[in-house]
Parts: sequence; C-alpha cells; structure tokens
Amino acid sequence: MTAAADAEGRMLVRRAKAKNPDSFVVVTGCLAQDRPEEMAALPGVDLVVGNAGKSRLLAKILQAHPNPRGLDHDHLSPVAFPLSPWLDGISRFDGHQRATVKAQDGCHFGCSFCLIPRVRGEMVSRPGLEIVEEARRLAQNDVKELVLAGIQLSSYGRDWALKAGEPRLAPVVEKLLGIPGIRRVRLSSYAVADFEESLLPLWESKSGLCPHLHLPLQSGDEGVLRAMRRPYTLDHYRATVEKVREAAPGVGLTSDIIAGFPGETDEAFGNTLQRIREFGFVDFHPFPYSDRPGTPGEKMAPKIPPAVVRERMNRLLDLKGECLVRSAQKALGKEYRVIVERNGKGLQAGLSDEGLRLVFPEREGWLGKETRVKVIGTRDSAAWAEWV
Ligand code: SF4
Repeated sequence: MTAAADAEGRMLVRRAKAKNPDSFVVVTGCLAQDRPEEMAALPGVDLVVGNAGKSRLLAKILQAHPNPRGLDHDHLSPVAFPLSPWLDGISRFDGHQRATVKAQDGCHFGCSFCLIPRVRGEMVSRPGLEIVEEARRLAQNDVKELVLAGIQLSSYGRDWALKAGEPRLAPVVEKLLGIPGIRRVRLSSYAVADFEESLLPLWESKSGLCPHLHLPLQSGDEGVLRAMRRPYTLDHYRATVEKVREAAPGVGLTSDIIAGFPGETDEAFGNTLQRIREFGFVDFHPFPYSDRPGTPGEKMAPKIPPAVVRERMNRLLDLKGECLVRSAQKALGKEYRVIVERNGKGLQAGLSDEGLRLVFPEREGWLGKETRVKVIGTRDSAAWAEWV
C-alpha cells in the first residue's frame, strides 16, 4: 500500500463512474479497510467493503442494491456461486493465457512503514487442493501460465503445524506443473524471510517454475533495514541470492527499493546503490518513502526533505535504466516465449521467464496470447524485440 497505489485506486473509482454512470461502484481492499469513511465520501462510490467482508462481497452488493441491473439473483445465489475468502470460483481470465492465483493472505511481520499487518490481518494460507482446483479450471480455459500471488508468499504454510524445513509451497507448485496445459508457474513477489529451501530443486531441474524471483530489498543499508524492521539482514539476503543462483544460474532477480526512509543518510543511500549493483537486478521498482498514518515509521525522525527524496529517486531511476540496458544487452539475439501484454503507444510487451520486460510492435488480436519474440536491441532502456 503506497501513496501511488492510493492515488491510482481513487483514479480508478472516478474513471469507472465516468465511463458508466449507471455502474455500481464498490471499493474494497486495504484502503477500504483502513479508511472506510474517507472512501465512502469519494464521489461515485456506492459501497465500501473492508478486507474482512470480501468473502461475502456478493451478498453485500445484493443487500445494498437489491436489484442490480444485469445481475440474476438466482444465478448468483450462494448455492449456485459459492464464495470463499479466496474468491473461489474464478475459472478464466478472458482472452488471457496468464492468470493470477491467490495462495496466501496477510503477514506475520511488522515492517515499520507498512500497514498490511493491520489491514489484512494474520497470515493465512490457502489449502493446496483449492489452489490446484482453481488452476485446473483455468487450464481448461486455455490458461498456460500461472502466477502464484500472496501478500507474503514466502510464508505460505507457516500457519500450519509443519516442522521447520518441511516443504510448503513446493508440493503445490509441482502439482500445478502437472496439470495438462499449464506450461509454467511464476512466483509473484517472494521474500528472503521464510524462504523455502524445497523450491530450489524445482529451479535446478528446470521443472517449469520460472527462474524469476522478485525479492524486495527496500534498502541496501543495514541500519536502515533495522529501522524499517525488515525481517532479514544484508548477509541473509546475500546468502539467499547465492543459493538461488546456484540452483538456477540464469535466474532473473527483480526488487523494490524505498528512497528517503526517515534517517536515511547520504552514506546509507550510497550503500543501497552499491547493493543494487552487487545483486545484479534485472530491474527494480523505486518508491519514494511516504508516511502511512498509524505506522511506527510515521513517528520516526529525521524525515528526509522532499527535494532530497526526489534527487535520490532520480538516481535510482538512472540506475534502473542501467540495469535494464545491461539485461537487454545480455538477452540480445535470444528468443523468448512470452504472453502478450499492453504497453501503449502502438507497442506491446511480454515478460521473459527471467522477468525481463520485452517490448515489441503491436499486433491486433494477440493481447493475452502466447507468442515468441527475439531481442534485437535496446530502446528507451527496454529490451526491444521483434515477432518471430
Ligand atoms: S513483510 Fe513487511 S512490507 Fe511485506 S507485507 Fe509484511 S509487514 Fe508489509
């Protein structure tokens, strides 16, 4: 939950109502949980449902709007359309061969800048059988790539009575890869804390688990990491990267970095730049730090002046560009199988198995479909590819 995500959420509400004035707009998720009154006051919002009420979302909509246009009450009754906290029942992402499947929710850590433990509650893992069932339905609808998602995916299964080191997510991934039609499984954001060693053989054996790991680092300075209350040290992070690189030498690492956390000195920021280079990220997302009301970070000092945060963000964006150009140069001449995504400006894009974003000229009718592209150069700090 960042300030940028907040702003995007508000913009989506405005856009939904502007596009269809008759629409019934429901705001749900973390913002709705944390600031329900503020969300309800947004022009165009008809209903606000916090995270806790999401499993009964449909019932709440029907209650608030007894005769919503286009909805058939009998068809949507809880009997015909069973609801679970995991929004069970999704069986297709129209026209898209990649689908996201939620495996876990909540977080049992307490980073000082983060609202998630407060708004999403305790860590809870979705039973493997449910995940596999949903994946089967998706595969029957032509989905070829699954993205396993969660708030703190590396903690999957930690809420079960398992012994330390016992496999948690790995057996689920193996089952998913055994479903006819599913070619690969990608982990969304993963973490160093609670890292599951039993995933390593899956990368080693090239099982179909994408060699791409998004491991948020947030800062490359030990003191800042401590102030952020991140559940790892730099040594721990480094050791995890080494283990993964040993199992999958070509693995693509991506990350998140926060600029301007309270107390971040020039030296600490310099350490972050060095660590980004050391870990050789394919790409990373830089975020300017902003206080989240009610978090320990809000009370931390000294705050970094906005002009300094902007300057650090610019340096991070320059470094991000360098990382992307270096990764694109390494990929030059290679062919990749990608699912075609939107890019805008007459272009489309796709993510390589290693997490490198490839950009290529748009072709009508291909959105969401699988294709092969070949990297032929770099353009605007991205890997520039052509259709094969
Ligand atoms: S690990 Fe930290 S940043 Fe990530 S969800 Fe948990 S508390 Fe938030």
